Amino acid sequence: MNVLMVASECFPLVKTGGLADVVGALSGALQAFGCHVRVMLPYYPAVATQLREQRVISAFDLFGAPASMIAARSENKLEIVALDAPHLYDRPGSPYLDPEGRDWSDNHRRFAALARAAARLVVTSPDGWSADVVHCHDWQSGLTPVYLAATMTAAPPVVFTIHNIAFPGLCAADEVEGLGLPASGFNPGGFEYYGKVSLLKAGLVYSDRLTTVSPTYATELQTPAFGMGFDGVLRARRAVLIGILNGIDETIWNPETDLFAAAAYSKRSFAGKRVNRAAVQQNMALDPDEAALLVCVVSRLTNQKGLDILVEALPVLIRLGGQLALLGTGDSELEAMFTAAAAAYPGRVGVRITYDEALSHLLLAGADAILVPSRFEPCGLTQLYGLRYGTIPIVARTGGLADSIIDANTAATTAGVATGIMFDPIDAEGLGRALGRAAALFGDPTSWSDLVHAAMKQQVGWSRSAARYAALYQELVGSDRRPSSSSSERGKRHVDAT
Ligand code: ADP
Repeated sequence: MNVLMVASECFPLVKTGGLADVVGALSGALQAFGCHVRVMLPYYPAVATQLREQRVISAFDLFGAPASMIAARSENKLEIVALDAPHLYDRPGSPYLDPEGRDWSDNHRRFAALARAAARLVVTSPDGWSADVVHCHDWQSGLTPVYLAATMTAAPPVVFTIHNIAFPGLCAADEVEGLGLPASGFNPGGFEYYGKVSLLKAGLVYSDRLTTVSPTYATELQTPAFGMGFDGVLRARRAVLIGILNGIDETIWNPETDLFAAAAYSKRSFAGKRVNRAAVQQNMALDPDEAALLVCVVSRLTNQKGLDILVEALPVLIRLGGQLALLGTGDSELEAMFTAAAAAYPGRVGVRITYDEALSHLLLAGADAILVPSRFEPCGLTQLYGLRYGTIPIVARTGGLADSIIDANTAATTAGVATGIMFDPIDAEGLGRALGRAAALFGDPTSWSDLVHAAMKQQVGWSRSAARYAALYQELVGSDRRPSSSSSERGKRHVDAT
């Protein structure tokens, strides 16, 4: 089975968040289930310098400028098809932001181009490889099924995964023609979103199957509180929507082999954790306090992640004798708040405002607990790293956090299955109580060690979820794939898409 992934990020080539981890790790894990995966990505400068065995397989015109497709391999042997369109991607820095930190004003065109080229790859099979299934990820790939339907009478089935509904991928209505989209699709049953074009909505409406990254988020998305205006579409398409919990790449996130950790450890031989703990305290300018509950955060600093709640609850952690080591970057207001907190609590709060893959590994290896107080969280990866590293997750009860942690309540603790601490309501009081529970458990070495053992035993790799994606592809390829196409109004419309 040949699977074409279409995404704007893929670890290790380019990453701003969990999307990249998922695309990279899932693509690798699917090989064990008989899938031959190719990942289509923009040829950003950072991608260009890392790809191996590059060869041009197709050259064409894309929105009035020359472009080409480059087949290549990543260092970890993923097969990549990179879209080289210098007028769109040959720009420094983040995949999405200009040097001032604002979204590039032509992002809709940059990622419409990715979708258009993906459709072109499927239609023309330039090097003889043809996709049996196309798997799109988030708004950046959302137009792929529209371009496919417009250019092929029997297009392969499309799976669309929602990693985060908060990014609608909007542009003005007058872009419809310039993007080569069918005018008939610009209506509330198509890709229109309140008078604009939404690339995300195109994916939601025109794909054959929708997945999201946890079962709880799949349910939450259908409610006004979480659906960000797309809940109606998702309720209409609920027959084709499923939640499949993300896994993590256990070769990269493994405390026994982690090259960024100061010492290796495992559940049988846990002593190395103390060495990492001391390294974190030294690295983050924290007191070398052996009794403190050392809590880490590795996160984008945005409203979604609830870190303003942590700022409010910080005095509780300090009163409990705890320490915070935070690694993150994002909203300038939150960055300033944490910088101020580090100054207010020297030796107790250490903050690094940057993106640092190596330091993220050290924090996971050395902290006692990892905090994820998100207001909403489609899946979340850092709590899964926490389980693998025996770094106890303290999480808000939402989305994938609720699906991946077993709260240390009395019943779960008695049964020996608790793996973390979960709190609600998601506010400073709720978080303060959770920190109090964590500190009490940490103060009792037997209880803490039970938690750590149960956490490290939990399966967090990709095999189970990759099997579910492979089964989904199989089902689509082998059967009539459109149980609820009435809601999607998938029409075959001709546009000059390639
Ligand atoms: P999201 O995709 O919403 O940002 P996830 O928890 O799904 O959240 O994934 C975040 C990924 O990005 C994780 O791999 C996490 O380790 C990584 N990450 C986030 N911020 C940083 C940072 N400042 N430095 C290093 N890694 C980070």
